Amino acid sequence: MDRIINIAVDGPSGAGKSTLCKLLAKKYGLIHLDTGALYRAVGSYALSKGKDTKSVAEIEPLLSEIKIEVDYKDGKQLTFVNGEDYTERIRYPEVSMAASNVSALVPVRSFLLDIQRQIGKKQSVVLDGRDIGTVVLPDADIKIFMTVDARERAKRRTAELLEKGFEAKEEEIYKEILLRDKNDSTRATAPLKRADDAIDFINENGIEQSFERLCAVIEEKLK
Ligand code: C5P
Repeated sequence: MDRIINIAVDGPSGAGKSTLCKLLAKKYGLIHLDTGALYRAVGSYALSKGKDTKSVAEIEPLLSEIKIEVDYKDGKQLTFVNGEDYTERIRYPEVSMAASNVSALVPVRSFLLDIQRQIGKKQSVVLDGRDIGTVVLPDADIKIFMTVDARERAKRRTAELLEKGFEAKEEEIYKEILLRDKNDSTRATAPLKRADDAIDFINENGIEQSFERLCAVIEEKLK
């Protein structure tokens, strides 16, 4: 692509946003920022300090002591907190709810907004998250709202955790997904919401087929 383009991909947990965005980044030479990783980094740091992740009084003071950075290695996003590699630990199962909790806190959202916007200014990017098309990049060239049935998301997430060697029960993961959906879409600030000008994309097929379909949507839009 010969001009800077920004693609915003939003949707609930486990919709397959990151997987497809990684492929998009590779195909079109974009930088991919998985913004959930930033919320996970704050959540993981808060847990390591024994803080209540729902308490703004406990979490806000932490923000002045953390520096979050991302880097890329072989197309994979690495996430650092104060220079320490958090890439693996932010995927620990307990971090999902912690991330969802801290993400509802206004100071956390404004703290992470800057990092996200900066990255989109300099190069073509695809950002995935919950409020990219509505808040972070409201002028994005393309906005996708990706969804898939919660049962299917739970199935995928369980398989992913088991593959990584974690214990995972599909029924529990399903309940957690419903709870996170509720948390994420009902919070007062920057809730998970489809932007008015977003294209709906149901990610219900296999990766290859979905990716092909997504590329067709993007190329049509860029014409
Ligand atoms: O996408 P992922 O599941 O890794 O995100 C973890 C949590 O971070 C989500 O449940 C959501 O609460 C929060 N998040 C957010 N806004 C974003 C990305 C993630 O609130 N842009």
